[in-house]
Amino acid sequence: MFQPSLARLRIVSYDDLGVDIPFVCGPCEEAPCVEVCPVYAMRRDPVSKMTFVDHDRCILCKSCVAACVYGVILLDTVKMRIVKCDHCGGDPACAKVCPTGAISYGPVDVAAVLDRRRKIPAYLEEIERTASQG
Ligand code: SF4
Ligand code: SF4
Repeated sequence: MFQPSLARLRIVSYDDLGVDIPFVCGPCEEAPCVEVCPVYAMRRDPVSKMTFVDHDRCILCKSCVAACVYGVILLDTVKMRIVKCDHCGGDPACAKVCPTGAISYGPVDVAAVLDRRRKIPAYLEEIERTASQG
């Protein structure tokens, strides 16, 4: 059963513009989710640098949810546990099942990512301008 509200990728949809922008834990260079955790339940893997939750320690304070810069930490209110993408330990299932290959996994070209992010506002403005013309 699909439950998009619990997806560990956050998709921001601009319905009027027909644009969807995905967000997922990168992770950050400085991880505020780790810094704010009062019980050291949010941790960082020393090798991959990915952040992950130690559910045995987590007290569900939700500080990490509020601190996440991309809004990609969620509280599953059914199972009452924090959920976040941890890249499936380096072999993400989403990339394997994506039918169109829209999700791929590999080394990140940070300069290219920052360049693409910088272009988003201008891209949205251009779409909005084009849409308003007709
Ligand atoms: S919800 Fe859990 S992992 Fe997140 S900050 Fe609180 S104790 Fe740490
Ligand atoms: S969970 Fe959020 S704050 Fe933490 S490293 Fe990932 S993107 Fe950054």
